[in-house]
Amino acid sequence: MSHLAAARIAVLPELVKNQIAAGEVIERPASAVKELIENSLDAGATRIEIDLAEGGVALVRVRDDGSGMGGADLELAFASHATSKLREVADLEHIATLGFRGEALASIGSVARVKLFSRARGAILGAQLENEGGRIGALREAGGPEGTTIELRDLFFNTPARRRFLKTTATELGRCIDVIQRLALANPGVGFVATHEGRRLFDVEREMNLQERVRRTFGSELAQALVAVEARDGTLRLSGFVAPPRLARNDSARQMWFLNARPLRDKLLTRVLKDAYRGFLVDGRQPVAFLSLSIDPAAVDVNVHPAKAEVRFRDERRLFGFLVHHLREAVRATDMSTPGESLLASAERRGAWAPAPAAANAPTLAWSSAPAAARAEAAPIVVRESAGGAPVNLRATSAACEPLGASPLFQVARTYIVRALDDGFEILDQHALHERITFEGLKRELDRGAIESQRFLVPEIVELSRAQVALAEEHAGALERLGLVVAPFGPAAVAVHGVPARARRVDPVGLVRDVIELIEQRGVAPSSEKLLEEVLHRTACRSSVMAGDELSESEMRALLAQGAGIESDQTCVHARPTRVRFSLADLEKAFHRR
Ligand code: ADP
Ligand code: MG
Repeated sequence: MSHLAAARIAVLPELVKNQIAAGEVIERPASAVKELIENSLDAGATRIEIDLAEGGVALVRVRDDGSGMGGADLELAFASHATSKLREVADLEHIATLGFRGEALASIGSVARVKLFSRARGAILGAQLENEGGRIGALREAGGPEGTTIELRDLFFNTPARRRFLKTTATELGRCIDVIQRLALANPGVGFVATHEGRRLFDVEREMNLQERVRRTFGSELAQALVAVEARDGTLRLSGFVAPPRLARNDSARQMWFLNARPLRDKLLTRVLKDAYRGFLVDGRQPVAFLSLSIDPAAVDVNVHPAKAEVRFRDERRLFGFLVHHLREAVRATDMSTPGESLLASAERRGAWAPAPAAANAPTLAWSSAPAAARAEAAPIVVRESAGGAPVNLRATSAACEPLGASPLFQVARTYIVRALDDGFEILDQHALHERITFEGLKRELDRGAIESQRFLVPEIVELSRAQVALAEEHAGALERLGLVVAPFGPAAVAVHGVPARARRVDPVGLVRDVIELIEQRGVAPSSEKLLEEVLHRTACRSSVMAGDELSESEMRALLAQGAGIESDQTCVHARPTRVRFSLADLEKAFHRR
């Protein structure tokens, strides 16, 4: 068959295969750090040291006190698809280790200069093996501590295209730290020490629990504000902490999920948190939470992503419901008021009042020289740590659970209610609070069937476009369930015969326009779950004209009592806080008493 051309397809040599695989597994120094720490954890280490140079590009060294490897295993460790964690296909059904693909060391060895030393527990001597971009050296006996040390230098020295994709040293280092901190938070029981060019970056001791690790990593303001979650459903266990909505951020760097001690980013879990904070958080802000799930390994598939960052759950719906329910309860228990302390800090930033120059070692000096943005984050930590080492509790009691009692109340500018507390005072926004109460009331009525409407003697006429009139007519039944009774009135107007009874002094024209526009924009029926919430928001907003109302003391008391009776009176329906609280500690600080 001489007319057949020679084969153009060839099986790739091992090194090329490994370099291609490395593209998926090892994208940057942080991915090497992750794979190496995971190996140490799989080996049962209780202490892991990580040393870095030039953001991990020049050096990543990971040393552990785990099980170690014998000489024969050392040679196999660099081969691709060589693993001690998996034997047969069925094992993929219940993976309990972090690694299992047997690809990391082969990939790393193909794109860096690697030195691997290991001494198995109880062995007299260890062994050492080098791998320079796929060229494996000779196995040699060597002395050293029990456990494993892997040293990786000049990442991507032989794949310059990949090296060009690396970012600045600071960026790469930041990613390495993020990986280390996530793994450290996920693994209480294991000590971590990380350095960069000899400088200590981060450490946690073996005995520290999750909350202590959060404190060490992100400071005591956050750690102190956390509310614990703990729930169980069969073999599924949820535990961890959620932070109050006011500590939410623009990024999700402090949103961590751990599944069987594996840190992961998962769309389902992100949605769970979004739902748990619904109504308490302004759109676009990311809640802060540290949550750990333990699930029977057979109920989750971790083999869907080369970096193992995503997983697939077997019974998603049930999991979702369970998680949202318990997390929402914990979120509601957080303190949602704006701490007066943060107002003082922002007043100080604006120069409204400046702290008097205090003694040379006074904490205020530590932040008056810092840039404004950094100060907001750093100030509370600096201040607290220097207060004699003892953490200062800025809000000893949560007014959310404080009885209304007979504490004096008064009104400021017909807009704010000031209320004395045992350990300070709080200022409430009467409009925001009333809006929340109206909203919750409407929601309850709707849950029971329909919102009661108040009929007008003379209908109000609202002019609309013809298309809008048609929409109003089409959805008249659903609108009536929402307490809005409308009927066409000629070709370009509707007559409003009734509005929600609970919505006192509502502006019917504005409300009908809002609702019709919502249906128009969203293109969904007003009975859809999402639209309902929005319609209720508008109704509450349009009818809560309480800013500017003079209230008697008994009216104020009634408003607060109503607030105490609903799911949460700490934020308005737009998720803005309804109150600001000043503790005695805040006042003492403002008056330079401390
Ligand atoms: P995987 O972790 O998927 O098995 P790796 O390429 O990361 O694949 O590692 C290959 C094998 O080398 C592991 O299965 C394990 O037996 C061994 N190994 C790697 N790192 C260590 C370590 N730090 N301590 C003990 N054994 C290790
Ligand atoms: Mg591994």
